[in-house]
Amino acid sequence: MCQRCGTPNDTVRGGHPWCGACGIYLIHDPEHGDWVSFAERDHRRRAADNQRRIAASADQVHRAMSAVHGRMPDGWHAVARQHISGALHTLDVEPAPAGVDAIAYLIPPTSGCRGWQVRVHNRTHRIDFPLYRDGGAQAASFDTACDALDAAIPALRVEIASTAHR
Ligand SMILES: [Zn+2]
Repeated sequence: MCQRCGTPNDTVRGGHPWCGACGIYLIHDPEHGDWVSFAERDHRRRAADNQRRIAASADQVHRAMSAVHGRMPDGWHAVARQHISGALHTLDVEPAPAGVDAIAYLIPPTSGCRGWQVRVHNRTHRIDFPLYRDGGAQAASFDTACDALDAAIPALRVEIASTAHR
């Protein structure tokens, strides 16, 4: 039956099951075991895909935590977080207290790009930017969390130094 209205799907139109009540073609969703519109099926697929990416980002961030552990400067911290429910997990790099509230987010390669990406957030001055490729307009992509960390540390140091003199 049609998942939306409960009408038995015994009508076929143009070779596809058809719900006359809703005026939609129906397709079987094997995961849920019901018949839904193509739009609903696509919506479910995107939602499931999103859940997989979030779970994958949690995995990658937690694995990266131990990898970056020995590379943190004295007094700096790496923290695994999911900032917003439904968002990717990130590995946050928090510098030692220096009078500037700055943080870098290492974003795992689950968002359609191949590598890790880095965003720097200077909360004292409300500046938020990604690290870019040298001379390029494209966001930089790093093969490993350690590579991303090695780029994030100097970027944060610049932010701390320049903010201190503003
Ligand atoms: Zn229906």
